[in-house]
Amino acid sequence: MSKRPNFLVRVLKPFYHVARHALKQPVTHKYPFERIKGFRRTRGYITLNMETCIGCGACGYACPDEAIYFFPVEGRRFTYPGIDYGKCSFCGLCVEACPTSSLAHTDLVELAGDKYSDLVFMPTELKPIDVKDVLPEVRRFLITVMTDDGPKYIVYTEGGEE
Ligand code: SF4
Ligand code: SF4
Repeated sequence: MSKRPNFLVRVLKPFYHVARHALKQPVTHKYPFERIKGFRRTRGYITLNMETCIGCGACGYACPDEAIYFFPVEGRRFTYPGIDYGKCSFCGLCVEACPTSSLAHTDLVELAGDKYSDLVFMPTELKPIDVKDVLPEVRRFLITVMTDDGPKYIVYTEGGEE
């Protein structure tokens, strides 16, 4: 049986935890008016590069939620994946399964619509989204920049870039 901490430790421990958290930076953000930078491995909205996609279907086979459908795209040779975000669980298996690295996660997680069909993205819609279009109310706070690792969103506050 584990030994019970002595009386003094039990009395002082809650004060220690309160003091520790009182000194920390708050983690609450005024969402959607403030948005923190996405974390490096966030599995958010998925982009498709149709220039490299070979329409092999591996992403569709890998998807455990049957959220990927294939559609012809005018002027292009293959059928390409579209994603039903109403079903997608953002597991990332499709991204991992793609042999040509044509799918990539972004750190954008704001996806909502007035009706179900708003959540079904055709292949041509799986492109980097400008977050300003998704959340117009945060227009002056956010910009999108393209980096080697894909699109990144930068938060602007009155003090400038974070
Ligand atoms: S992230 Fe997962 S659930 Fe979503 S489309 Fe890809 S494989 Fe399917
Ligand atoms: S796995 Fe990659 S190359 Fe194959 S259809 Fe999907 S996105 Fe295209």
